[in-house]
Amino acid sequence: MLIEKYSLGIGDRYEHQGTAQLKALICAKDKGVSIVPVWNKSKREHSLIGSKPIDARIEADNAVKELGWKSSYYIDADHIGIKTVDDFIQHCNFFTIDVADFIGEYPSLESVKSFTKKASEYQGKIEIPGIKRCFEITENTINSFAKKYLVAINEASRIYKYLVSVKGSDSFITEVSVDENEQPQSPEELFFILLGLSLGNVKVQTIAPKFTGRFNKGIDYVGNVNDFIREFEDDICVINYAIKEFSLLPNLKLSIHSGSDKFSLYKPIHKILTKYNVGVHLKTAGTTWLEEVIGLAEAGGEGTKIAKYIYEQSFNRIDEMMKPYLTVVDIDYDKLPDLLDVYNWSGEKFANTLRHVQSNPDYNPHFRQLIHIGFKVAAEMEEKYTDALVKYADIIGKNVTENLYERHIKPLFLGE
Ligand SMILES: [Zn+2]
Repeated sequence: MLIEKYSLGIGDRYEHQGTAQLKALICAKDKGVSIVPVWNKSKREHSLIGSKPIDARIEADNAVKELGWKSSYYIDADHIGIKTVDDFIQHCNFFTIDVADFIGEYPSLESVKSFTKKASEYQGKIEIPGIKRCFEITENTINSFAKKYLVAINEASRIYKYLVSVKGSDSFITEVSVDENEQPQSPEELFFILLGLSLGNVKVQTIAPKFTGRFNKGIDYVGNVNDFIREFEDDICVINYAIKEFSLLPNLKLSIHSGSDKFSLYKPIHKILTKYNVGVHLKTAGTTWLEEVIGLAEAGGEGTKIAKYIYEQSFNRIDEMMKPYLTVVDIDYDKLPDLLDVYNWSGEKFANTLRHVQSNPDYNPHFRQLIHIGFKVAAEMEEKYTDALVKYADIIGKNVTENLYERHIKPLFLGE
């Protein structure tokens, strides 16, 4: 099972938007661009909401059936480790093996020895086609890499082997992620990570490094776009080189986590993908939840009331909401609108403040980030919230499809 060139991580908190999301991919297909959907949901999300991996599977199957989707589709066990994989194993065919927590753990002398033996073949200067500078690899580079990453790589190999033992080797896609780490990985580190994965016989198809700059939840990229693009391009060159050099799968590609809403990166990324004729995987699941709240706000009546309630609760319990997301949001408390003001807003004003249209003078990224992490409030409302999703399905669905297609797919995959 090999993943296609372009894939989009979708999925949503309450499993009601599968059809609306898939419609966005059908729009792309109508334009001649094939993108496959990957419904992803992590253990953290499931436990905050009280959903189960089988729910994501049912949502995806239903959407595919309803719209007569004929291409592949995947269900991603997002950010699993050896302790959490079992809940997902039956229902998923895409596994994001997250080993970021193991970076920096001290490996055994033996494993360092066997890795450095192989890696030392690359000591000296390596020229990688497409990268202007040479990689200068010394014994020291290899040793410190091994000490930092070997335990993580071995863990990925252990989980991969476990997956193969349960599911067989050709029934799932393997992603390895190291994005939830403090430090971005350099292209040199990516090179050796890929060597390590190939030595561990991990048939990796997508790899999610931590990129330079900030990938906050639900808002645009924060950082130097040129630096990001240089690193992204270097990473692609490393992957192309590693595919041949380490006999990795030919479709291996980069995966961008927290990839939704990074509007300033999409067109430059599109250019690079076109230049090298390579694919990408972009995870965007979180952005759909915000479109639900936007749709509710626009719906008027009970819908607007629910949207305002979600803001009120998130505002009053901001520290609690922030806790699982401290490193991926930047909220300036002073820039959050007053509760009383919001109470008096029209649904349209609420929607404009939340919707990610930077040219709209009402748009407020602090408001948006707070609602992004406030989905627990909706989970606590139980049926009251999900009934509203059903009642206002049309207006919500329109927002969900439009957001994915117009603001994400068009610039990234179509270059428009
Ligand atoms: Zn991630």
